Amino acid sequence: MTDNPTTGTWSAPGRVNLIGEHTDYNDGFVLPFAIEFRTAVALQTRTDGRIRVTSSFSSDAAEVAVSDLAALFPDRRDEVPEWARYPLGVAWALLEATGVDVASVPGVDLSFSSDVPVGAGLSSSAAIEGATASALNDVWGLGLDCVSLAKVGRRAENEAVGAPTGIMDQMASMLGRADAATFLDCRSLQTESVDLGFAGAGLELLVIDTKVTHAHSTGGYRERRASCEQGAAIMGVPALRDLTVDDLARAQELMDDVTFRRVRHVVTEDQRVLDTVETLRSAGPRGIGQLLDASHASMRDDFEPSVAALDLGIDPTRAAGAIGARMTGGGFGGAAIALIDHSLVASVTAAVERAFADAGYATPHIFTVHPSEGARRDV
Ligand code: ADP
Ligand code: MG
Repeated sequence: MTDNPTTGTWSAPGRVNLIGEHTDYNDGFVLPFAIEFRTAVALQTRTDGRIRVTSSFSSDAAEVAVSDLAALFPDRRDEVPEWARYPLGVAWALLEATGVDVASVPGVDLSFSSDVPVGAGLSSSAAIEGATASALNDVWGLGLDCVSLAKVGRRAENEAVGAPTGIMDQMASMLGRADAATFLDCRSLQTESVDLGFAGAGLELLVIDTKVTHAHSTGGYRERRASCEQGAAIMGVPALRDLTVDDLARAQELMDDVTFRRVRHVVTEDQRVLDTVETLRSAGPRGIGQLLDASHASMRDDFEPSVAALDLGIDPTRAAGAIGARMTGGGFGGAAIALIDHSLVASVTAAVERAFADAGYATPHIFTVHPSEGARRDV
């Protein structure tokens, strides 16, 4: 224990989900990749057994005794500012997961800074969770692996924050690799790294942040999850993951139209993830455009989480020559992605900005992202 670090900087990235939307909480498949935007935490141990969190994101700091975390979460979480529930919730979930004696771990000061856009569907929440989990795992000498740290992040978000999210974001942020995506089976939590080869193929992945904000804990997301659970129950399976495209005809007979369309999205989306992995490996990234487009159409028509601004981000990219485009990150506001030729970055950006201006929306934030390394210790 004596050689645990007492100071240092750790960081974890946001992520883009290439394909596999609303499949994670249905035990299905997703294909996200970590991006170069990161949340960093500077850590310093302290001798009084307290944990204090500050962030460039908020002027509200929070401080509690490490030994009080168990009483704080989940019931008394209102006593700390909302943002602080992410890092303090991770500290709490780490203690719960390991059963380590709270008296044996040092207090810490955690100071966060980040360039991950917040609430844009790029998972700034997984980035702050991943940075915190990685730092405390090392400093408290807990010895958890990346998958366990991802689970800790999810537990913090579910129980300490109260947002009912799946495991995808945390796994992507923990396990990312440069130039690759993380193919994740959300049931077994088995992962495979899948080379993307965007740069080699002369491609860029453009993110169009519509700046329409989303909130996971509000109605639409919960409602979709409930429809999925209902659909699985009607079909007599533990999760929609257990259905295939061949089961859809029977599903249509057994359930109401809305539930059926939610189910159809998830079942076909699982298949599209598998097809995307296969296509990336056999034909490379230029082959996946149609799968991205089909994913978007399925989200738009069957799952219906989209807002008008997202279609506004997608349609002009196609007209301007994108290989494929889709909404990402859940679709209640947030961001769209488009896979485009490197030479088209400026013209596609201009086309989307023009479409937003013509429709009277605020200028979207448009930027490229590159598949990058996951959580790590920096210094
Ligand atoms: P997303 O993950 O899509 O960016 P979420 O609503 O899941 O959006 O998470 C955003 C919330 O996470 C913020 O409102 C804030 O509470 C917290 N958060 C994210 N990054 C930071 C940060 N660097 N510092 C403080 N809080 C953060
Ligand atoms: Mg989030």
